[in-house]
Amino acid sequence: MVHETGYYDLLGVSPGASQEELKKAYRKLALKYHPDKNANEGEKFKHISQAYEVLSDPKKRNLYDQGGEQAIKEGGMGGASSPMDIFNMFFGGGGRMQRERRGKNVVHQLEVTLEEIYKSTTRKLALQKNVICEKCDGYGGKKGALEKCSNCKGKGVQIRVQQIGPGMIQQIQSMCQDCQGQGEKFNSKDRCKNCNGRKVERKKKILEVNIDKGMKDGQKIAFHGEGDQEPGLEPGDVIIVLDQKDHPVFQRQDHNLIMKMNIKLVEALCGFKKTIQTLDNRMLIITSHPGEVIKHGDTKCVQNEGMPIYKDPCERGQLFINFQVEFPGKHWLPEHLMFQLERLLPPRDDVMITDDMEEVELSEVEVRAKERSFNREAYEEDDEAPRSGVQCQTQ
Ligand SMILES: [Zn+2]
Ligand SMILES: [Zn+2]
Repeated sequence: MVHETGYYDLLGVSPGASQEELKKAYRKLALKYHPDKNANEGEKFKHISQAYEVLSDPKKRNLYDQGGEQAIKEGGMGGASSPMDIFNMFFGGGGRMQRERRGKNVVHQLEVTLEEIYKSTTRKLALQKNVICEKCDGYGGKKGALEKCSNCKGKGVQIRVQQIGPGMIQQIQSMCQDCQGQGEKFNSKDRCKNCNGRKVERKKKILEVNIDKGMKDGQKIAFHGEGDQEPGLEPGDVIIVLDQKDHPVFQRQDHNLIMKMNIKLVEALCGFKKTIQTLDNRMLIITSHPGEVIKHGDTKCVQNEGMPIYKDPCERGQLFINFQVEFPGKHWLPEHLMFQLERLLPPRDDVMITDDMEEVELSEVEVRAKERSFNREAYEEDDEAPRSGVQCQTQ
């Protein structure tokens, strides 16, 4: 029984969500609220990471489902990793050791259609990135013209004294704005005009992303060394994460595709031919032969018409077709013709009716009445839960 759903709500999933659904939800939100992309949403980024850290660990998730956030805190299981560590672990951003000598990795999400993954395609992605300034080779100005910063006297930091109460002062240390903490700077005539002394310039870069057949939702494609350049650092990678869009017809489950197909009652009983348009625009014809009966909810499959298998694209998974039988509406057949139909259908069972039985009315179920009975069931199951106001409304 799930008491608290705050973590699930944060990720926008239901408490019954699978690990796959959790991953997808975290991936989308973490990229959206990452401080690189959304500097004002640091708190939100932290909360999403916390929620994911707990829910992605079956033990912690169980504890959370039992006792909520309180139980996580009491169990000493909260806040083990920083949001950035969780993010880097998820997207493969490398450890701390690596980060010192290398620039950080940049992660971008790329929305792809199921058709693109089925057929393979190349997508061009335009990125803005920092590159070493061409004019000054990343030096920032005229060689040998660096001067000690007069503002901070070469220390790189500024100390400000603030009175915080009668007779009480506080020293606040901050990075020197004039030299960006370097302690040295160029005077304006020696500073590189191209990068304004920043050593790097912003440039547009087009990446060609090859979407191979059968790639998965969430799959990462790394562009080694394409991250921001910085003097003295090996640039990090650009990591493209695929985000597979939902398809109106096909649902993907690993290598398999699943679709729903509506058929008429006559087709279910007497057979049919139907067409299916594949993701690469071929037309398939499926047949149910006379004599075969397809029931409502039956699933059949077509071999080798699922998704291509990554790195082995000649092989494909299966296509599952889930049949929904459409019954005719009320009074579709005049009553005087019913006996003809009945003669053709399998015979009905006889029912013994005796005098001591009670005849009752069979009526349509109202939606509201149905909801009421579901609510009551939920409360009966959940005896320990505090009774809330909702219950009063259902009486
Ligand atoms: Zn420059
Ligand atoms: Zn300075």
